[in-house]
Parts: sequence; C-alpha cells; structure tokens
Amino acid sequence: MDKPYILLADILKRHGYSITKPRQTVFTLLINQEPQSMYTLTSRAKGKIDRASVYRTIRIFEEAGIVQRIYIGWKYKVELTDIFSRHHHHLSCLRCHKLLALPEDNTIEKRITVLTNKHHWVVTNHQLEVQGYCEHCQKIESFNL
Ligand SMILES: [Zn+2]
Ligand SMILES: [Zn+2]
Repeated sequence: MDKPYILLADILKRHGYSITKPRQTVFTLLINQEPQSMYTLTSRAKGKIDRASVYRTIRIFEEAGIVQRIYIGWKYKVELTDIFSRHHHHLSCLRCHKLLALPEDNTIEKRITVLTNKHHWVVTNHQLEVQGYCEHCQKIESFNL
C-alpha cells in the first residue's frame, strides 16, 4: 500500500473502522483533487460504488477528520483535510461556485496562532473561506449594495 493509504488505514482504525474496498475507492477519488461536490463525486464513483455507499463513506471520513466540507452559500464541496494535502485557504464564488485555493500565507497563520494562544486554545484545525463573486460573475450579477 502507498503511504497515504497506510495513513488512511491507520486513521480509520483509530476511529474504529476498517479499511474496506469502497473506502479505498472513495479515498482514491479524493486524492490530489480540487474540492468536489457530492454530485461530482458520486458521478465519478459510478460503476464502482453506489451513491449511498459514497455518502456513507464521506460521513465516516468526516467523522474521522479525513474529509472536510467547504460551504459555498448553502451548498458544499468536499476535500481531504490537511492531513493529506497542504494547508490552504479558499476563495469561493457565490454565483458560479468556483473555488480557488489561496497559496499558503505565513502572516495569516502566525496571526491565528497568536490569537488562539491568547485563549489557551489547543487548535486541531482551521478553515478560512472568503466568499464573494469572481471577476467574471461581478460583471453579470446585479448587486443591490
Ligand atoms: Zn463566479
Ligand atoms: Zn490557515
């Protein structure tokens, strides 16, 4: 097994789950990918695993901290957490649902550490999503500001 799969098996085990073929398949569909909607994910899984199993697996992955949701308005996409991918923040467009990964920024990260230390917080994870309209959608959307 490749390194990410060994890590996956280890995390699942710690949460009381075993590594099964469907779980491995869903993980394979998530690795090195942009955040995906559940629709995209289930479409890509077609022929390999049924829709219900994909949803069930994602629920287990979320519980185990393997997968996280990124909300765009009331909809969401899923991606692997920082355990499996480099930590990053997102820009999301509320109209076309485009998601852009922002490059790592040490100034923001350090600032978050300072602020959370002040509250004696043991931080396990954080997400930062900046919602708005992309350049293209700004021209189309009529703003009522
Ligand atoms: Zn857009
Ligand atoms: Zn961050």
